[in-house]
Amino acid sequence: MVYNFNAGPSILPKEVLDEASRAILDFNGTGLSILEIGHRTPAFESVMHEAISLTKELMQLGPDKEVMFLHGGATTQFFQVPMNFLDVHGVAAYLDGGIWGSKAAKEASLYGHAEVVASSSDRQYTYIPKGFKVPSDASYLHITTNNTVEGTQMWHFPDVDVPLVADMSSDILSREMDFNRFSLIYAGAQKNIGAAGVCMVVADKSFISRRVRKLPAMMDYGKHIENGSMLNTPPVFAVYVCLLTLRWLKSKGGIKGIEDENLRKSSLLYDTLDALPQFRPTVAKEDRSQMNVVFVMDDPEAAEEFLALCDKERMVGVKGHRSVGGFRVSLYNAMPFESVKVLTDLMRHFAGKH
Ligand SMILES: *Cc1c(COP(=O)(O)O)cnc(C)c1O
Repeated sequence: MVYNFNAGPSILPKEVLDEASRAILDFNGTGLSILEIGHRTPAFESVMHEAISLTKELMQLGPDKEVMFLHGGATTQFFQVPMNFLDVHGVAAYLDGGIWGSKAAKEASLYGHAEVVASSSDRQYTYIPKGFKVPSDASYLHITTNNTVEGTQMWHFPDVDVPLVADMSSDILSREMDFNRFSLIYAGAQKNIGAAGVCMVVADKSFISRRVRKLPAMMDYGKHIENGSMLNTPPVFAVYVCLLTLRWLKSKGGIKGIEDENLRKSSLLYDTLDALPQFRPTVAKEDRSQMNVVFVMDDPEAAEEFLALCDKERMVGVKGHRSVGGFRVSLYNAMPFESVKVLTDLMRHFAGKH
C-alpha cells in the first residue's frame, strides 16, 4: 500500500479509479472507450450535464450561477479573469496570501492596474492578511481561499462591496461555505475534483455580462456558457473523472459529510505535531489549512532521517514545496482517515526514539 500525500495531482478515491479504468476499456457498455467517443454524442453530453448539475447540487448554487469545465488549469484563470473583467484604465484588488495569489496579481497587471491590498509576504506567507481596504471602484477582489504551498487557509471572508473572485483550487468541495456570495470561483481539478486537464469555473451570469473587451472565443466565459462547456472538444476523460468524484462525494454525505472527515484528519495531524517537540508547524494557528499541513523539523539530520523513514514506509509526497522546504502533507477529500493515522503513528514512533 502506498500512502499518497501529494499536493497535486493528488489522491483520488479508489472507487473512482476503478470505474475510470473500466471506462477506458468500455464506457457504459457502448463497446467504445471513453477516450474514443465523440464529445457531441448523447453518451458524453450526459456526462457533462450530470457533472454540471451535481456541482450545482453539492455546492447549493443559486439560479444565477453557471458552471463551466474549461481547459488550461487554474493558471489560465489567472489571466482569463482580468482579460474578461479588468479594463485597461480600471483597477482590480488582489489579496497576496501566497505564491499562487501573487502569480494571479502579476498576470492581472498585464490588463490593467492590479492593486495588492494586503500581503503576508513579509513573513513568508505564514498567515492570512486581514483587515485591509479595497478600492470601491475595483472591478473585483481576488482571493485564494487555501494557500496550497504555504499551508494557510481563509476561515473568514472579507465583507466587501465589490465582486468577490476566488481561486479555490486546493479546498473546493472540502468544507461548507456560502458559495453563492462569490461572483466567480475557479479550481483546477487535480486536487479535490478529479484529474488534471480541466478547471471548474462557477460564475454569476450577471458578473459574466460585465466583460470589458473583445475576446477570443476560447477566453470568453459568455461563449463557454452559451456552448455548455463544449465550445471545442472538452477534456473528455478529465471531465468524466470529475463526474465520478462528484458522485463519490455525494455518496459520502456531500460537502458536509466530507467536511467532518476533513476536520478529523487535520485535527489528528495538527494535534500530533503540537504534541511532539521534534515537529514544528510553520503557520499561524488560526490560519492553519485543513488541506495542506506544512511543518519543519529544526534538526536537519532528524529531518533527513524522517524523510527516509516516510520513503521506506511508502508515504509519498511529504516533502515540502521547493520554495518553502520542510514537509507538506496534503489531506484532500479522498485521503482516508486511516492513512493519516498511520502517518501520525509513525511520527510518534520516530519522536519516541529521538
Ligand atoms: C495548484 C494550484 C494552482 C495551479 O493550478 P494549475 O491547474 O496547475 O494551473 C493555482 N492555484 C492554487 C491555489 C493551486 O493550488
